[in-house]
Amino acid sequence: LVSRKKKPEDTIVDLKGEKIGDGSQRIVAGPCSVESYEQVYEVAKSMKNQGIRLLRGGAFKPRTSPYDFQGLGKEGLEILRRVADELDMVVISEIVSPQDVEMALDYLDVIQVGARNSQNFELLKEVGGVDKPVLMKRGMSSTIDELIKGAEYILAKGNENIILCERGIRTYEKATRNTLDISAVPILKKETHLPVMVDVTHSTGRRDLLEPTARAAFAIGADAVMAEVHPDPAVALSDSAQQMDIAQFESFLDSLRASGLYK
Ligand code: PEP
Ligand code: MN
Repeated sequence: LVSRKKKPEDTIVDLKGEKIGDGSQRIVAGPCSVESYEQVYEVAKSMKNQGIRLLRGGAFKPRTSPYDFQGLGKEGLEILRRVADELDMVVISEIVSPQDVEMALDYLDVIQVGARNSQNFELLKEVGGVDKPVLMKRGMSSTIDELIKGAEYILAKGNENIILCERGIRTYEKATRNTLDISAVPILKKETHLPVMVDVTHSTGRRDLLEPTARAAFAIGADAVMAEVHPDPAVALSDSAQQMDIAQFESFLDSLRASGLYK
């Protein structure tokens, strides 16, 4: 069902007027983790000033260590919803458990399936059965074909509003946190009719690489780029090394616009 052979025309996912897959370039931004109302509001406000409405933030955090910050859970979703309603934005957040999907419908505009849950088939079936767009990340050890088959699980249940996201894969390379598989973008565009996003934050794990990789993503045909922004990354409760502060985010956008690749 996700195959381009089955449906030759591009699927356009409409997020409250922000279309993904229509040939325009979109930016999704926001903190790694939701930490407080003030923190989310500050980032969202700066995004809004830049004309960006797609707000991300993690409330259920899939952390490698059980001793690391696990997220605010439902309270985090409430904060995102409140800020988004105040500023007319679109909320994207990860849900890790099939049992939480229904609860999340009241708060989210887009349900994110994270890299670690890319082959959690019960979660994929659950999000396939709801009337809410899904942002589907590639697993860090998933092949492109496995990502496509994961999306097939969602579409097979009836939900066709799916955005695929390349977020880097595990290789032997240590210079970056993961290895951004940039060729996944044209392959996914060719093989499927779904829009494709590139997460430059989790793929590189390096603040200094966010802007060049975002340019590469748009140059190769990505419909959207995701990047993490925090008012004060030094004190962030997760991903402190790679989130941009607000001034850095503004220069990131300025450089992207100057490149002509992001309009
Ligand atoms: C995220 O986007 O918040 C995240 C945890 O990313 P990933 O699932 O790609 O690691
Ligand atoms: Mn993060």
